[in-house]
Amino acid sequence: MPPIDITKTAASLKEERERLLHQLAELGSDEQGDLTGELDFGDAFADAGAATAERTETMGFIVNFKTKLDEVEAAITRIQDGTYGVCCACGELIGLDRMEHLPTSTMCIDCKTKSC
Ligand SMILES: [Zn+2]
Repeated sequence: MPPIDITKTAASLKEERERLLHQLAELGSDEQGDLTGELDFGDAFADAGAATAERTETMGFIVNFKTKLDEVEAAITRIQDGTYGVCCACGELIGLDRMEHLPTSTMCIDCKTKSC
């Protein structure tokens, strides 16, 4: 376990999860990233092109939020597993600076640089 305040990190990750769930809900999506159908994109008489563009943009936001949500949930799971802060590629501890900067990191900076 890295020398970071894991309780504080877990709390902020859970806050982040709540925030993302809230944003997904506001966009008319459930936590799986599926539209709940409550969002009104305009009826058949509205400008179909604009409605489609708006829908595409909204889906883009939903995908972004869903991706972040998955990362946050994976980080929370790793905290519970005791593997949080350990690089999934080399098994070394991820640098403290990196974990503070990017709490959902799964790889140390060396492995991340190599794999990308
Ligand atoms: Zn590594």
